[in-house]
Formats: sequence, C-alpha cells, structure tokens
Amino acid sequence: MVIVGAGPAGLTAAMYCARGGKKTLVLGSIYGSQTAMGGLYENYPGFPDGIHGIELSERILAQAQRFGVENQVEQVEKIVNLGDFFRLKTENWQYEARAIILAMGASHRQIGVPGEEELTARGVSYCVHCDGALFRNKNVAVIGYGNGAARAILYLANIASKVHLLSPKERLVAEPIYLERLKSLTNFAATFGARITEIQGKEFVEGVQFDVGKTPRSLRVDGVFVEMGMKPNIELAEGLGLDITTGGYIKVKRLNQETSMPGVFAAGDLTGGRMQAATAVGEGASAGISALQYLG
Ligand SMILES: Cc1cc2nc3c(=O)[nH]c(=O)nc-3n(C[C@H](O)[C@H](O)[C@H](O)COP(=O)(O)OP(=O)(O)OC[C@H]3O[C@@H](n4cnc5c(N)ncnc54)[C@H](O)[C@@H]3O)c2cc1C
Repeated sequence: MVIVGAGPAGLTAAMYCARGGKKTLVLGSIYGSQTAMGGLYENYPGFPDGIHGIELSERILAQAQRFGVENQVEQVEKIVNLGDFFRLKTENWQYEARAIILAMGASHRQIGVPGEEELTARGVSYCVHCDGALFRNKNVAVIGYGNGAARAILYLANIASKVHLLSPKERLVAEPIYLERLKSLTNFAATFGARITEIQGKEFVEGVQFDVGKTPRSLRVDGVFVEMGMKPNIELAEGLGLDITTGGYIKVKRLNQETSMPGVFAAGDLTGGRMQAATAVGEGASAGISALQYLG
C-alpha cells in the first residue's frame, strides 16, 4: 500500500492498512498538512480543551508507526497505472504499490492580484499561526470572508495593534461562536464589499489597494493574511485519469471511498464534503478498510 499525503486522512488510512497486515508507506510530510497551519482545533472529538492540529497529526503518525507504517517525506510528482500495480514517481525515487490511497488535501487559494506573489513571505502570508508573531504591535489586514478569516482575526488581535478585515462579501460568513468572540475585540475594524486590486510595497508590504463599489481606497498595513479558502490538490488524480466532480474534487463513492479506477481510493479534503479533521479521519478509516478488502 502506498498512501499519498500525511494529513489526518492519509495517516488514518495508513494506520488501518498496516494494522490490517499490509506493508504500508506514506509519502508526504505532516508539516505540509493543513493541521500544521490550523492552530487549536476545538471541535475534534476527544480533547475537551482542544488539540493543536499539528499535535493531532504527530499523534496519528506515532500511532500508525506503532503498527509498522513507514513515512517518507517526499513529494509525489506522477502516478502511473501499470495494470497489476501503480508506480509513483518522486523527485529522486520511485515506488510500486498494488493499491493506493490519495489524500493530498487542499492548498490555500490566492487572491491573484499584483504584489501578492512578489511579497509572499515579505509581509504576505497564508498562515497566521506560522507568521502572526512577526507582526507584534503592527497593523495587519486579513483578506477573506469565512471561518478562516474569523479565526485569523481572533488570533492576530492578540498580537497586532490593529487588525483590518477586508472582505469581498457583504458580511462575515462564520460560525456564531467566532462572530460572538469578534464582538469583544477593541482593535478590529472591517470593510465589506472590498475588491482587492493590489498589495503594495517595495521590499515589504506597505499597504493594500481595493475598490468598494466604484470608489478606490487604500489601507496602510505591514502585513496581509490571505484567508480566501482552500482548493483541492487534484493534479496527480487528473494525471492518473480519475473522474473529477464538477466542483473540482476527486469523485468517490461515499460508502467506501472508491474512485473511478480499481485499486485507487481517496479520502479527506480532496474529495470535498465537510472538509474537517474529523471527517478526514473518518474517510481515511473507510478508505483503509476498503483498500484492505480490495487487496484481500
Ligand atoms: C487555518 C486552518 C484551520 C483549520 N481549523 C480546523 C478546525 O478547527 N477543525 C477541523 O476539524 N478542521 C480544521 N481545518 C481543516 C482541517 O485541517 C482539514 O480538513 C484536514 O487537515 C484535512 O485533512 P487531509 O488529510 O484531507 O489533508 P491535509 O491535512 O491538507 O494533508 C494533505 C497532505 O498531503 C500532502 N501532499 C499534498 N500533495 C502531495 C504530493 N504531491 N505528494 C506527497 N504529499 C502531498 C501534504 O503535504 C499533506 O501532508 C483547518 C484548516 C486550516 C487551513
């Protein structure tokens, strides 16, 4: 068994496969998982005080390794179906497997404006838990509209002197528990209906330009946190020729996480659905059991 992806879905699938007696390899890094960026997970069952996402992944990996799972921190570049087995190519190596589980998760969506790429890691960030501390007592903007944006604001408000939300929508579409917590912040301001046109700065971020309606506006900030949601990592699946849904996710049967190709299973955020750690774990378990049944 080879599993591509070391997030909650892939690691759980791996644990089931190895515990079921199969030689199991996970390709990917737990530090590439969304859990490494997610901070405190308050809704993952079994942890009344919450658990940090990365600790959750570390624990699942340790549990999987106890049953013999091997983990190689390698990025898979191509998967080929050779009939009786699959060949997975990484930068330096290649692996063969009789069945595979795809669990490559999702990556941050970019805004796609001038300055965004040029100033990434120079004030533009996609991870408050990684980079938030660099903006102590500074002005920052959060660009987004959902739970990710709400959580980023709550985190940054403890560090930055002021947090500005620039939202393309007319309101923040977040869980009530986050909206309630936002009400108590004194260093937070929001502009809704903001269409970002440019992130400005020479060496580092200096400001953001945006339109509200037809009126151009600008904001001086030292940092910009982009929270525009996630897009599934399906390039390998497309290369392999798997069916993709109209929404852009890998098509699976929810009963058993089978894809359109025998011997290939998929689980977690790249299959769409609720996109939570708990659902990724559930789908990973289901994919692992299905792969065991497939292998006999
Ligand atoms: C900021 C943030 C906060 C969140 N908060 C919560 C929360 O509070 N509660 C909750 O339940 N969920 C939360 N989530 C969502 C949750 O983290 C995801 O639903 C979950 O991590 C999905 O698991 P996954 O295994 O499908 O994918 P991921 O966790 O994204 O893991 C994907 C894995 O695939 C690897 N990979 C990708 N491409 C390749 C390749 N080509 N070769 C090898 N490896 C590859 C990556 O490195 C990674 O190891 C949050 C997400 C974010 C970004």
